[in-house]
This record gives sequence, structure tokens and C-alpha cells, in this order.
Amino acid sequence: MGDEVTEERAEAEEAENEDGAAGGPSVPQEGDAGAHAGAGHGEPDKSAKQTEEEPTPSRAEVSNYEIVEHWFNVAAERLELPEDVAAVLRSSYREVQVQVPVQLGDGKIHVFSGYRVQHNGARGPYKGGIRFHPEVDLDEVRALAELMTWKTAIVNIPYGGAKGGVNVDPSKLEQREVEAIARSFMDKIEKVLGPQRDIPAPDVGTNAQVMAWLMDEYGKLHGHTPACVTGKPIALEGSYGREAATGRGVVQVFCEAAPEIDLDPADATFVIQGFGNVGASAARLLQELGAKLVGVADASGAIASSDGIDAEKLAEHVRDDGTVTDYDTGAEEIDPDDLVALECDVFIPAALGGMIHEGNADRMQCRMIVEGANSPTTPNADKVLNENGVFVVPDVLANAGGVVVSYFEWVQNLQHFRWGEGEVNEKLADIMRGAFREVADRAHENDTPMRPAAYELGIQRVVEAASTRGYI
Ligand code: NAD
Repeated sequence: MGDEVTEERAEAEEAENEDGAAGGPSVPQEGDAGAHAGAGHGEPDKSAKQTEEEPTPSRAEVSNYEIVEHWFNVAAERLELPEDVAAVLRSSYREVQVQVPVQLGDGKIHVFSGYRVQHNGARGPYKGGIRFHPEVDLDEVRALAELMTWKTAIVNIPYGGAKGGVNVDPSKLEQREVEAIARSFMDKIEKVLGPQRDIPAPDVGTNAQVMAWLMDEYGKLHGHTPACVTGKPIALEGSYGREAATGRGVVQVFCEAAPEIDLDPADATFVIQGFGNVGASAARLLQELGAKLVGVADASGAIASSDGIDAEKLAEHVRDDGTVTDYDTGAEEIDPDDLVALECDVFIPAALGGMIHEGNADRMQCRMIVEGANSPTTPNADKVLNENGVFVVPDVLANAGGVVVSYFEWVQNLQHFRWGEGEVNEKLADIMRGAFREVADRAHENDTPMRPAAYELGIQRVVEAASTRGYI
């Protein structure tokens, strides 16, 4: 696996970028030659009206794809999968790349790149989120699609894995511009979607409103089809409990995992990296259990307080368009790079991939990591964490709550029937707890950490479905 090589490359690039852009990909600034370059001329627009640089905690340059491939290969070897079978499972079934040309407020047409990757559909229709983020590219979407295949199999819901995205920063755009991008993207990919084919959902940079536009656009071509996307608003046949589902699932698996390190959830201290849908929901629910938020970061920066930060009030502030750092809590603003080093029981990454890497894993003071984000931990970091005795609940299990309630939403839509929120949350808890136990039992039996055990369980289920169908 190229983790070491790529992390070395990251260090070299950081050194090169010491003028302040270290640690993240360089972001075109307004006025840069090349900002908005190619608009209307077929060059993907990665700039999306950037205005100012945001502080970004450093991330490993090991890609999400390398991370997912590493874990697939480890599991495939342990399962003694024949190489020809592994080759089928390693590659995507279908990869679609489209241009998304949209006229923005500056009067010019900007061409964004849109992607939908369907990794494996042996166990059911493809399922996976759509991400709007400037770093989206085919490699990332491919990795996230594969992750969805294993995730839906681990929690044993009847779906395959897919992912989509557009390389745009929606926070820099007007709402009507985001709407235009969502609609244009749907127009380009609708042929490979549908309730029995592939069902998108929200991810980073998209939300229930974006899903409403996608459903409406799909409906113009196919008639009213609420089951074509999940994560929709309640007013449009969305499911109660969907918005908080990923964060709720994170907390449910945390409660199952806590006894493994003799921790009472009510006494826990926790840190959250990324305070969006997943991070804020998890923080609010953990606080309800009695746990204390002692540090939190979003793209604006990071804050910490050993006295605790009110997660409910902070979530309200962020919902009203605030950021973590412009909230007046009395908490101290810290360097975002130092968030990982805060002393706490549980660290919850809920931002982007690769944020826990070889360069910072050794600094972590937590006893447990519950991965809300996808691929937040590089394999080298994982090794360090294992050596240091940190219990890691991997993304493919920990953040599956969103897709589980998306499944419930789809089931409700297909029947045009609605369940109450209590019923949704209870059913979610059953699935998350059951999946945690299955993975934990396997990990104990085989004396491995949770991640390889989870991958093995997911891969085995997909192999069984694919071979029973006669696909492989
Ligand atoms: P979101 O867009 O609602 O929130 C992302 C958060 O991360 C924001 O607070 C943003 O400011 C913060 N962030 C961005 N860059 C950061 C940085 N460099 N440092 C610290 N914080 C940073 O996205 P979300 O839906 O909450 O998704 C978060 C993660 O969870 C992603 O990895 C996503 O793939 C994963 N996930 C989401 C869902 C879901 O249902 N939304 C399901 C499974 C997994």
C-alpha cells in the first residue's frame, strides 16, 4: 500500500507550501490567474467563486481510494478470495462523468464536473450520497462508492454501493446557483438512476433541500417518484429521523462500544471534528446522554474548553449560518491542528477523509475513535492507534445510520406510508446494535481490530450474493 509514500509526498508538499497554504490542496484565490479559468470552455471549474482562504487542519495526501483499497486487500487476503473474484469486487460496475454547465451570478457559464459511480449492485439497487465539494474527483467518488458497498452489506440492508459528487463549493454560491447545479446534474445522470436502480442521498455540502430539487427534476422526466432519492424534507415524503440518523447511529454504536473500554457514556468527554449534519447531531445526542463536549472544529477553525461546550446551543448557532469559531461560549480558540491532541474519552471525526494520519495519530489522547466521517483515518495512522490501544469503530459500521434510515425512507416511499419518529429511531438502534455485535464478535473471535472484521463481514456477504446470482 502506498500510504507511506503518499504521506511522505504530503510532507514534501507541506514544506513547499510554507507560505500559508500548507496541508491542503492549494485553493485558487479570487484574482488568481486561472481562477474561474476555462469557464464555458470545457475546463472543469474548481474555483467556485473562492473569496478567502479558510484555515484547514492538515490532511494526509493519501487518497480515500488508497485507504479503501488497502482495507479491501487486507480483508480479501484473510478471506482467501481468488484473485479473479477480488478483481471484480475491486473495480466499479459503472462510472459516469458529466459536465455540469451553469450560468452563475457573474453572468458567465461555469463548467463543473459531476460524477456518479456505481460500485456493486449484487445485493440490491445502488445507494449512496451526493457530495458538493471543491475536492470532489473521480478517484474520491470511486472510493466512497466502494465503501458504500461494504457498508450496506455490513448493516445487512438490501442495497449495493454508489456515490456521486460535483466539484463545487456550495458555501460560496447563492442558493439559486446551487439549485441550478443540482438540477443540471440530475438531468445528466437520471438515466442511470431510479428507485430500483440507484438512489442518491445527501452527503457533504448537500442537504434535504438539494434532495428536493433532485427529486423534482427527476419527476419532470419520470413522473412523481419520491423513492428516487432519500434524505428529502419531511414535506416531500422524507422520513422522520433521517436528518439526525447518521449522528444518532454514531451514538448508538458508541453506546455499544463503551463497555469494551469500561466507559460509562454518561461520564464520557468527547471531541468532534466537523460540525455539520453528522457532527452536530452526534454532539447533541451525546450531550443528552450526559457526555461533555470538550473540543470541536469546523472549516472555520477549532475551539476547546475543559468545562464543556453546550452542543445544543452551538448547533443552533451553526444552523443559523454561524460557525464554531464565531460562537461566544467562553471556549478558547485553538489551532485546528491541535484538536486531535485534546484529552478526551472519545474522538469523533465528522469532516473529511484522511484527517487522522501518520503525522498526527501519535498525538491523539483519546481512548476511542468513532468514525462519523468516511475514511478519516489512514492505514498508517490506524496502525499507530492500535499500538497505542485506541479502540476504533470504523466508518463502514459507525456512520451507517444515515443509509439505514435512507433505506427506511425508501421503504416508506414505495408503500406511500409513513412511520413515526420513535419507530424509525428504534428500528435504527436495532440494526446498529446488531451490526456492532456481529462485527465485535468477529473481531474477538479472530483477534483482529474492528475494521478488518467489518470489511470481512461486508465482503463475504457481497461475494455470497454475487456468486448466488451467478454474477461471479
Ligand atoms: P456537512 O457538510 O454537513 O458537514 C461537514 C462539516 O465538516 C462542516 O462543519 C464543515 O465546516 C466541516 N469541515 C470541513 N472541512 C473541515 C476541516 N478541514 N476541518 C474541520 N472541519 C471541517 O457534511 P456531513 O453530511 O456532516 O458529512 C460529514 C462526514 O460524514 C463526511 O465524511 C461524509 O461522507 C460522512 N457521512 C455523512 C453521512 C450523512 O448522512 N450526512 C452519512 C455517512 C457518512
